[in-house]
Amino acid sequence: MIGHIHSLESFGTVDGPGTRFVVFVKGCPMRCAYCHNPDTWEMAGGTDMEPSYIMEQYHRNESFYQNGGGITVTGGEPLMQIDFLIELFTLAKKDHVHTCLDTSGIAFNPENPALMEKFDRLCEVTDLVMLDIKHIDPEKHLELVKQPNTNILKFAKYLDEKHVDVWIRHVIVPGWTDDDKYLFELGYFIGGLSNLKALDALPYHTMGKRKYDELGIPYRLEGVPPMDKAKLIEKKEVILDGIRKRRAELRDTAVSNQDQAAQGDQAAGFTKP
Ligand code: SF4
Repeated sequence: MIGHIHSLESFGTVDGPGTRFVVFVKGCPMRCAYCHNPDTWEMAGGTDMEPSYIMEQYHRNESFYQNGGGITVTGGEPLMQIDFLIELFTLAKKDHVHTCLDTSGIAFNPENPALMEKFDRLCEVTDLVMLDIKHIDPEKHLELVKQPNTNILKFAKYLDEKHVDVWIRHVIVPGWTDDDKYLFELGYFIGGLSNLKALDALPYHTMGKRKYDELGIPYRLEGVPPMDKAKLIEKKEVILDGIRKRRAELRDTAVSNQDQAAQGDQAAGFTKP
């Protein structure tokens, strides 16, 4: 099994817990307006590598990753090469290496049984998914990334059913993804996930623009300023408010269900030991 790889990074510090060996794959069907890796969009042009070669590279620098780190596959979109991903993570788990998938979830499709069988296998060898939800609103998502968010949100729920830990990431772009209404809705949605372990609200920056100029691709966020750091904290708080609201509702529902069950027991003549 061959993976089409953009590059390898042996000392990643922002791609999951601890220090990580990071594999950047080629190919992505999304077209996020703020993407800072447009050079990974096309599948062509990368370097072909076998999973065993990548694990050899990991083990050469193993001492870097003893601080709770491991291997992260990002991109591009790793799920576009799911067979390669399964093989790589299976090798990693045999060596007791922590595995992290950084993804947009775009390739998930519950209507495709053969693909779902692969997703089930992938879950068995994946310790953590960093799921980047670009926008909670379907139309605004389409406008921002040129793809629908339906299956991405289904993927989040599927990971919850599979008990795979999730970090949600959300890039906040002035004028595009910073509306409090949608940030709250995003929080409300992810507040319903019992596998949610962390939330990263990431500030939009303009550092990727240079690559667009080099590749001759029009930059859709021309003139949009970088996200202000102080504002970012406020915006993250709005998402957290949504999470709190959902969690409170779930607690209330659980309590009310318990009360109803207790009343049912009483009516049926059962007593608790
Ligand atoms: S999903 Fe990631 S790699 Fe693909 S366009 Fe969006 S930011 Fe870029």
